[in-house]
Formats: sequence, structure tokens, C-alpha cells
Amino acid sequence: MRKISIFGATGSIGQSTIDLIRRAPEGYDVVALSGGHNVAQLARDAIELNAEIAITAHEARLPELRAALAGSNVEAAAGAQALVEAASRPADWIMSAIVGAAGLAPGLKALEQGTTLALANKESLVCAGQLLMRTAAQHGARILPVDSEHSAVFQALVGEQIEDVERIIITASGGAFRDWPLADLKTATLAQASSHPNWDMGQRITIDSASMFNKALEVIETREFFGISPEQIEVLVHPQSLVHALVGFRDGALMSHLGAPDMRHAIGYALHWPHRKELPVERLDLAAVGQLEFRAPDLQRYPALRLAQDVMARGGLSGAAFNGAKERALDHFIAGRIGFLDMATITEQVLEALEAQPGLIDASMTLENVTQVDDLARQAADQVVTQRTG
Ligand code: NAD
Ligand code: MG
Repeated sequence: MRKISIFGATGSIGQSTIDLIRRAPEGYDVVALSGGHNVAQLARDAIELNAEIAITAHEARLPELRAALAGSNVEAAAGAQALVEAASRPADWIMSAIVGAAGLAPGLKALEQGTTLALANKESLVCAGQLLMRTAAQHGARILPVDSEHSAVFQALVGEQIEDVERIIITASGGAFRDWPLADLKTATLAQASSHPNWDMGQRITIDSASMFNKALEVIETREFFGISPEQIEVLVHPQSLVHALVGFRDGALMSHLGAPDMRHAIGYALHWPHRKELPVERLDLAAVGQLEFRAPDLQRYPALRLAQDVMARGGLSGAAFNGAKERALDHFIAGRIGFLDMATITEQVLEALEAQPGLIDASMTLENVTQVDDLARQAADQVVTQRTG
């Protein structure tokens, strides 16, 4: 029996993880499951999987969670501190699938117990890549990528030396607006941005896919996780989302990873690593697919990709500033206060302002400093929005 915990269990990645566990429940001893507002779902899953503890991120929801768990053996807890404590409960495999920078502290705590962390929460690598990698190394923990592109690269690198890698190419579907005229993006609505042509994902990452902020985060994630330089990372638009990534080696060979757009592949690969086990994903029929399409990304359409380059060039805590500003701008877009293109403008403005503050971005990468920059970025984004909307 492997002891496992799932942080962000009620989300899209969390539910796909639970789907895999449910198919072989005898193999797993579930320690902690966490969620947010969806307390009923959290309690149902925790009871079904006989978890030790269920944690909601929101303290106000604790009575509701307690009530939903009444009569079961599952403990109830709430709040950010409870999440971190739950991450220190011994487990052999921990899924980090909280959305946003909120996943960083529990992820770090999990690594401190020297476990295997399946990392879907890309924001933590963007905010604090060096801190995560350093913490893993110090405690003999392992991070396995769950983002589909990074899982694909990881798989293409099996048996290879990172020194032999010339470039890593991650693909991008182009999201909801890839075929829209540039002029129309300004008035794109929340509903339009919230539907993805190929992947079924949480709302935030779906909107980030339409704006390419998701790909911007992934470029930084590639740099942090695989430790290669920014010039070696390329983005390729591939509308079908069947080729997830390619790795180019010094002899010119390209190794690619193909599969149906189903996150249970990347999750299952991380769950069973270093072995492969059967997974309930569609098998590709390439003859039926016929053609694969690729094109270069249009940087004018996607300013987020340019910002990712700036962040990597600047280094330090600029990733935390970038991500915090982006998360807050996304909140404002979801709330209907700003337009679709304003997210990039606001993020850029905040990034510039924070980078100009003496010593801030170059402070050492500790959880405290990362959290401070994240907070400042959110405040600065709020200020910009208030100035704009009056
Ligand atoms: P989601 O919105 O569907 O689920 C997010 C989960 O995090 C939920 O359980 C929610 O309750 C919890 N949560 C939200 N805010 C929280 C907070 N402040 N504190 C604690 N918990 C909180 O998101 P998702 O699509 O499953 O994505 C999860 C992570 O995986 C993200 O980092 C995303 O970028 C990454 N990812 C997702 C996909 C995908 O297909 N969905 C693919 C690749 C990477
Ligand atoms: Mg991805």
C-alpha cells in the first residue's frame, strides 16, 4: 500500500488523480485530501477513499466540512496553516494540484519530508523554482512534473544526458482565441475565454491558455525544472494538442511525445514512475488524424510570452512578481473589472514597478521573501486597476 495525499483534490487535476486511484483502491492508503469551497465534494471523496484528514482552504467552511464528515473517521481541518501541516503528514507520493501561488507552502512542506511530489502546480516553480529544487535536493525528495508538456519532456529525456540537449520545444494549442483577429481580443468576454478547444481544465488555467499566460508560466517552468537556458526553450503552436513537447539533441535528433489530450496520462506517469502501467486514455489513431499542424507563435498576439523572457532574464524574485500580478489581473478579469488584453498590460506594469524597487527582486529566495513579493504584486495590480476604473 502506498500512502498518498492530494492537494487540490476537488479540482480538475485532483479529480483526474482520484479517478486513477479509484480504479485500484487496494493499492493506496489515502492520507490527506484538500479542497476549497467545494466542501461537499471534498467530504464525499474523503469518506469514499477513507482519508485520514480532509482540509478546506477556507476557515469559514470548517463547520460545513465537519458536518459533512460527521459519523466518518475522517478528521476535518481548515486554513492555510492546516494545509501546510497536512503536507507534513508522512506520505510516499503527494500530488500538488492547488491552483496558484497558494500551492507553494504545502509543496515545500511536502518536499521537506523527502517524499515524491507530483507537481501540477506550475505557479510554485515560477515563483520559487530555485527554492523548490534546492529543498528537494536537501531532503532527498523528488519532483515529478505533471504539466503535460513537462511530463512529455521528462519522458523524452529518459536515458539521456541533459548536456546533450540543444533545445526543448513545448507546444501550445493557442487556446480559445488562436484564430480570432487581433482586434477582437480587446472585447473577448469571460465566457469566451473560459472554453478550451482541446483540454478540459479549471477555469483559471483555461483563461491563461487563451492569453498564453499559461505558456509563459510553462516556459519559466521548463527553465526551472530542467535547468536549461532561456534561449534553448521554444514555443510552437500546435492546434491539435497531440504532440505535447519535443526535445532536440546535439546530433539534431528530435524526440517527441504524442498522446491524446488527457491529463490522466501525465498524472498516471508520475503516479507509477519509474514504471509504466496501463492507463484509461484514448489511443491515438494517427491515420485518422491525418495531419499534424504547427506554426510559430505570434508575439504581438501574445505579450505574455515576451514577459516570460523578461522574467527569465531578470531572474531572482521576478517570477513571483510576474505570477502574483498575473493572478490578480486574472481575478479582476473574472470579476468583469478589466478587459482580456488588460491582463497583460497590468502584469507588465506591475512587473516593471516591482523590478524598479531597490533590493526587492534581488532579495534571497526564501518562502518569506517570495510571499512578500507575491503580496506586493497583488496590491500593485489592485492599485493599477483602481486607477484605471476610477
Ligand atoms: P482547479 O481550479 O480545477 O482546481 C484547483 C484546486 O485548488 C481546487 O481543489 C481548489 O479548491 C484548490 N484551491 C483553489 N484556491 C486555493 C487556495 N487559495 N488554497 C488552497 N487550495 C486552493 O485547477 P486545475 O485546473 O486542477 O489546476 C490545478 C493546478 O494544475 C494549476 O496549477 C494548474 O496550472 C495545473 N495544471 C492543470 C492542468 C489541467 O488540465 N487542469 C494541466 C496542467 C497543469
Ligand atoms: Mg501544460
